[in-house]
Amino acid sequence: MNQNCRCDGKGFYFKKERALKEDEDKTPMNWPTGEPMMIEISVECECTIKKKAKRLMSISEITDEFKKKSFASFLTEGKEPIVAEMKEIATKYYVDYPNIKKERRNSISFLGQPGAGKTHLLSALANNLITKRLQRVLYFPFIEGFNDLRDDFNALNRKLEEMQRVDVLFIDDLFKGKCSDWEVKQVMGVVNYRYLNNKPLMISSEHDIDKLCDIDEALGTRIYEMSKDYTVMIKGDRWKLNHRLID
Ligand SMILES: [Zn+2]
Repeated sequence: MNQNCRCDGKGFYFKKERALKEDEDKTPMNWPTGEPMMIEISVECECTIKKKAKRLMSISEITDEFKKKSFASFLTEGKEPIVAEMKEIATKYYVDYPNIKKERRNSISFLGQPGAGKTHLLSALANNLITKRLQRVLYFPFIEGFNDLRDDFNALNRKLEEMQRVDVLFIDDLFKGKCSDWEVKQVMGVVNYRYLNNKPLMISSEHDIDKLCDIDEALGTRIYEMSKDYTVMIKGDRWKLNHRLID
């Protein structure tokens, strides 16, 4: 802990504040002499917040490459409008997050053609949710994630429980490639738990909602319902697949 910061290594400090009445107007209180009444409140120091963020980042399983992704480094100049729209939705989600995180419609999905920067933006969003909102985010790359778990029953169960319980679950490239019934069943268990408990999902997938419903109708409709306020669908040849080249 930084001994030079204002908490002197304690992790918190006291701050004087005007005492307020507990009524609707929060009227400032005075002593009978007319002097303003002050109270001391304890405030979490910046160093504690940084330490928490560092720990949350280290257990997020976000790759070192994706940890560097930010909204600022996602450039939209010269790209199709849908790419800028995707960035807008991601930043809007970040701003709205404290108000929607416990609602049913608390999730975000970027669907469709690869190369538009879906993973960059969702990684930037995840990084911001960790460092600024101190959320426990878990990154789960669909293919590699299940490859690591297929033959290890205990590890699978531990991981599935973690995927159910974390504040935010980020599934990257959902159902990429040939996915098996086994994988669909595992994802369904996790998504269903999170749906029932109003826990946010971040999803990137090359499939659109129709295709997700083809793979599993209940799963597709749950993802749709949870993320319909923050879904971007990229399709067609109307836009150029140039993001990855510039990136
Ligand atoms: Zn401090």
